[in-house]
Amino acid sequence: MNGKTLAHRDAAVLWHPYTQMLTRPAPLPIVRGEGVYLHTEDGRRLLDGTSSWWVNIHGHSHPVLNEALASQARQLEHVIFANCTHEPGVELAEGLVQVLPPGLTRIFYSDNGSTAVEVAMKMASQYWSNQGQSRRTFITLHHAYHGDTVGAMSASEASVFTQPFAPMLFDVVRAHAPYCYRCPMGLNETRCRLDCLGADTCPVALTPEPWAGTLGAQLERHGADVAAVLVEPMLQGAGGMIVWPPEFLAGVRRLCDQYGVLMIADEVLTGFGRTGRLFACEHASVSPDILCMSKAVTGGYMPLGVTAATERIYEAFLSEDRTRTFFHGHSFTGNPLACALGVASLRLIEETNAIAKVRAVEGWLRRGLEPLASHRFVGDVRIIGGVGIVELVSDKATKAAGGYLDDVGPTLTRAFLNRGVLLRPLGNVVYAMPPYVITEAETDWLTQQIREVIDEVIGG
Ligand SMILES: *Cc1c(COP(=O)(O)O)cnc(C)c1O
Repeated sequence: MNGKTLAHRDAAVLWHPYTQMLTRPAPLPIVRGEGVYLHTEDGRRLLDGTSSWWVNIHGHSHPVLNEALASQARQLEHVIFANCTHEPGVELAEGLVQVLPPGLTRIFYSDNGSTAVEVAMKMASQYWSNQGQSRRTFITLHHAYHGDTVGAMSASEASVFTQPFAPMLFDVVRAHAPYCYRCPMGLNETRCRLDCLGADTCPVALTPEPWAGTLGAQLERHGADVAAVLVEPMLQGAGGMIVWPPEFLAGVRRLCDQYGVLMIADEVLTGFGRTGRLFACEHASVSPDILCMSKAVTGGYMPLGVTAATERIYEAFLSEDRTRTFFHGHSFTGNPLACALGVASLRLIEETNAIAKVRAVEGWLRRGLEPLASHRFVGDVRIIGGVGIVELVSDKATKAAGGYLDDVGPTLTRAFLNRGVLLRPLGNVVYAMPPYVITEAETDWLTQQIREVIDEVIGG
């Protein structure tokens, strides 16, 4: 149009997420995607190192998913889901119930990750009120990220991203998360009772004293008023790519049972194989009462939120009394196009043996990134499934991350782009989370770019 570039036209009319529009660099004009690569208007090819904001798993423009979308569009593109149903909506729910952790038998659709979490929180709250109990408290963890709508944002750790909205947020009770590199208990490896090889549980979950702020202590204090404990199992994403010992996840389930509160697992990021299991809860053989999905559920093609619940929760809403109905819904609840993609993606996960592939990628990431552990400015290297994480520090002894590293993210992003890699570090945390279809050679190349860029930007 008018011979202007996409970036020019964009600048005249658009407002981008998480972007300071005054100082941003020009956006990357992406015209085509194929496999792990994105192609720009000016002819560059970029490796999609973060799976397009953590959603893509089978690669871009996958022929099987393309066909699933096109054929569903020819059949039925959308219909109200309050009093109608349709084949892809039913088939996806049937498929999910088959593969979810045992006991999750009811599927509620919405249309993104934040709404999947909002639905879970509202379900938990009404589960109690339908039984005549008013429970006002949610316990969530430090470093948590659960989304950008008001409820999900309230549940997330307060940060510069939530600060402008502080007056809108409701209070939640916070408990420590097992960020082992920066252990909230101040334990070093020898004092930690968890040797990650067999000991019982991470002390961050242990009940109750002497560790104020542990999940155990918070449940002891607030137990009877707690509606649910909400966690991102195994991998806390936006809060810094923090990887848990599975013993902590097992401890969360045990404590929720002990205090009789619901456990909500936010698997919006971790669901569908990202951590090397189909669901991260499997790392500790845990079944939550409610489980949230989005991001990869459609293979990364279309927005879809899914909240799965147990039969016990579902049954608490069955009543002749209309006020016990779950009054929640969205115009695009159960969109058939998104559901058809969900069905096709689930099938692809099985047919391509995607979980085994993620574990292979895990090995390649480990081989490529673990050597960085001895680097002067690398504090911690963490790998889980298809996610490789490098935490930069300015001083290894104090683990200080501040100073120069505060604004190193955009500089790293630029350096990666110059090498044909699309990565967006979270502050001082550099991570790669490519689509599962990445090859061994591509992974080796990707980790080499990470090693070289850290040397180039931060120094060797
Ligand atoms: C991305 C994310 C969300 C929010 O999902 P959106 O689709 O971006 O609203 C919620 N929880 C977790 C763990 C996430 O990573």
